[in-house]
Amino acid sequence: MNTSSFLQLLFLTISLASVLSSDSHQHFIHCLTRFSPNPNSISQVIYTPQNLSYDSVLKFSIHNLRFASSATPKPLVIVTPRQESQVQTVIYCAKKHDIRMRIRGGGHDYEGLSYATKAPFVLLDMKYFSAVSVDHLAATAWVQSGATLGELYYSIAQKSDTLAFPGGIWCTVGVTGLISGGGYGTLRRKYGLAADNVMDARLIDANGRILDRKSMGEDLFWAIRGGGASSFGVILSWKVKLVKVPRIVTGFRVYRTLEQNGTELVHKWQTIAPRLPKEAELRLLINVIWTNKTNGQIKTPQDAEPISGADEKTLRFEFVGSFLGPAEEFVLLMKEKFPELGVVKEDCLEVTYIQMALIFSLFKAQDSPTLLLNRTSYTIPFKAKSSFVNKPIPIERLEGIWKHLLKQRPTMTNLMLTSYGGRMEEISESAIPFPHRAGTLYMMYMRVTTMGQSTNPADANAMEWIRSLYEYVAPFTANQSAYLNYNDLDLGVNNEYGPTSYEQASAWGKKYFKKNFDRLVRVKSVVDPSNFFRHEQSIPPARP
Ligand SMILES: Cc1cc2nc3c(=O)[nH]c(=O)nc-3n(C[C@H](O)[C@H](O)[C@H](O)COP(=O)(O)OP(=O)(O)OC[C@H]3O[C@@H](n4cnc5c(N)ncnc54)[C@H](O)[C@@H]3O)c2cc1C
Repeated sequence: MNTSSFLQLLFLTISLASVLSSDSHQHFIHCLTRFSPNPNSISQVIYTPQNLSYDSVLKFSIHNLRFASSATPKPLVIVTPRQESQVQTVIYCAKKHDIRMRIRGGGHDYEGLSYATKAPFVLLDMKYFSAVSVDHLAATAWVQSGATLGELYYSIAQKSDTLAFPGGIWCTVGVTGLISGGGYGTLRRKYGLAADNVMDARLIDANGRILDRKSMGEDLFWAIRGGGASSFGVILSWKVKLVKVPRIVTGFRVYRTLEQNGTELVHKWQTIAPRLPKEAELRLLINVIWTNKTNGQIKTPQDAEPISGADEKTLRFEFVGSFLGPAEEFVLLMKEKFPELGVVKEDCLEVTYIQMALIFSLFKAQDSPTLLLNRTSYTIPFKAKSSFVNKPIPIERLEGIWKHLLKQRPTMTNLMLTSYGGRMEEISESAIPFPHRAGTLYMMYMRVTTMGQSTNPADANAMEWIRSLYEYVAPFTANQSAYLNYNDLDLGVNNEYGPTSYEQASAWGKKYFKKNFDRLVRVKSVVDPSNFFRHEQSIPPARP
């Protein structure tokens, strides 16, 4: 074929594709209004690229700016339902017109899976499903699927200062993404994960049926609590169990640098933190910072550039955590269990539980809890990975990790270690799909900032850097395990078109779920055999 006929063919293919895409797009919108019980109200919650608000609605809940560039595929249509019947209509029409669907809650997905994919798709943005109803006498709450943790925590605090939900730490995270992947927070060592504290759920399945725990059955109810709900249906709401917390709790922070015995402290932390009483949780944030080698002055992790020629890079170890009790008791506990850290009362702050939620979302204890209702937050483009560590990393290997970190400039990266043990190891590996229980010392999370464009050479370097760090720690992690809520497409993806084999999907499925992956595949094969609810790492149904 000569160049001119090749170009003609290419042009024809592109034109045909755009006609088809605009056709299916039009048919899809027509379907939404035609089959909605209330065509007027659904037309008010549909946004096409022609709509002036389309961009702002799309970007409102994008928390990883790596997926906010012009190169990121955009939805044909965004629907922000306000009624359950509108969700049913979207499912019906997406199936009828063979359009993929992405479901978004808080929008924190690490790989942008809730709002971007290559194939033509509709974005179902559940942000208006955000009502919370707390029954403080029964210590339960119903929370709609599009609510954020901040909205849930705020509503609980309005009713009681001694009840809480063991959810995540950052208030803009959506309840559904969090719960449906497990969801750890400051109460994990006392009460387990968010998903361990769910009593009921309402969802819409691939046939448009609204099901609750009783009608969906225990298999599906098991799968959506940690197995990733977006493989199984659209969650409408969760009934969660609230747990007891003291009226006054303690938050604390202690900073040490490499020069202040940092490596030995981290080495000890690995075995001490998972064995503390359940009331205490001690995490570690590790950042690259500048320090002045002449006067020893240190900068913050937010200072990207050196100020003087005497500045050199070092690491700052932030020991941060909380205790369900008074500061005095916590200081005594630390003196007994971890005297080397030298925690004193001045490192601690006694607050109410809701004030602690504010502090860990980077507000101040005195700030109004209404700040927790704000759904937008500080965002950057990034790539992250996670592993579960089940044997202490020796000093030499820790030093190797430090060398790796020090190759990056301050602000570009961080490493976060979250201690396990306590209630986390009492719950069986198969109770819910999240399997990383007994034997896990801590979860390691690593992040690198990118430029937000895959074509930028700096991004290729950042990707290479994080992949090699992940490989470097692999010998100390349980079979390169990973946390679903820090999803990572490097582990593998489903075929874009056509089925994916069990073996192929095991590459990521077994890392997230271990043996529970098999049960998830069985549940998927029963409840969604045609694989309507799919994304790059969704659970594939077994092939007949
Ligand atoms: C800044 C930040 C802080 C974090 N802190 C924590 C933490 O403390 N603890 C922790 O465990 N994790 C934490 N995470 C990870 C977080 O739990 C996951 O990213 C989680 O998936 C986010 O949920 P979301 O609803 O905000 O995200 P989304 O991107 O909206 O959704 C995530 C997944 O859930 C699916 N989903 C959303 N709504 C529905 C629905 N109604 N029905 C079916 N499927 C749905 C989406 O399709 C997608 O697959 C944090 C993430 C970030 C970015």
